[in-house]
Amino acid sequence: MKTVSKIEQVRRDLKKVREKGKRIGFVPTMGYFHEGHLSLIRRARKETDFVVSSIFVNPTQFGPREDYRRYPRNLSRDKKLAEDAGAELIFAPSVSEIYPPAYSTPLKRKRSLSLTGCTYVDVQGLGSILCGASRPGHFSGVATIVTKLFNIVQPDVAYFGQKDFQQAAIIKKMVEDLNMGVRIKVLPVVREEDGLAMSSRNTYLSGRERMDALVLYQSLQQARKMIKSNIRDSRRIKSRIKDLIKSKKSAKVDYIAIVDPENLGEVKKITRKVAVLLAVWIGKTRLIDNMLMGGK
Ligand code: AMP
Repeated sequence: MKTVSKIEQVRRDLKKVREKGKRIGFVPTMGYFHEGHLSLIRRARKETDFVVSSIFVNPTQFGPREDYRRYPRNLSRDKKLAEDAGAELIFAPSVSEIYPPAYSTPLKRKRSLSLTGCTYVDVQGLGSILCGASRPGHFSGVATIVTKLFNIVQPDVAYFGQKDFQQAAIIKKMVEDLNMGVRIKVLPVVREEDGLAMSSRNTYLSGRERMDALVLYQSLQQARKMIKSNIRDSRRIKSRIKDLIKSKKSAKVDYIAIVDPENLGEVKKITRKVAVLLAVWIGKTRLIDNMLMGGK
């Protein structure tokens, strides 16, 4: 497996791969790999001929008071894990490789780059609700970096996790709206044994917080149970989840949403498959989780 940090090098290497008629599978990430990331690489390995994964903690998707600086990083460990999972090329660029001075005049605002005065991709509507409402500019940062990476790698298939449900919906919409010739695959949430969704941010949690964090999974299971027992009123389900979350000392609700899985529109009465989406603060760590339910 090769690790490359320069865009031109990736282009050269992948041109050769493409010339051999190989199909390229791509897994974009911010690194600090866990089984969630590795499940995407393994699937790409099964379904395509050459797997590229990018590792880039993208500053433009972090707000000025968010955890860009603190976000966990460990490239040498990631490389080993990615290789074992079947990746053939790791693209790990520097910030200046992706956002060179000529990209724009990115304003350095309180230690994070903002997307002002430059070219960026904004998936309107979908990008400003739910996580987009709590994290203004986040999804512009995501859509822009994914577009840049797609242009650099030019994959046949790109793999994303359902863990970031809204992100996956936004990427699918962007690819469709902008006629990007990439197939998007969304794979299931990978969880710890006790149900906590794997996340690089779980490393921030103290022992006590780690226990409280289970409330996200428990809430989703509770919602599923209620729907199975024929409770169809979203308000009632949300209110039950709110109480569950409130019962944990370190937990605070950011949002609880029951939405149409395709367009993320609010569903008041559950008559078909829905996605229950949660964002919860556990101490100073914001965690998200989701589950599909209610369908056949
Ligand atoms: P990240 O490094 O957090 O940006 O994640 C990179 C990719 O891995 C995204 O497509 C995520 O949705 C996916 N991912 C992260 N955590 C999980 C998980 N627990 N299960 C499945 N996919 C995940």
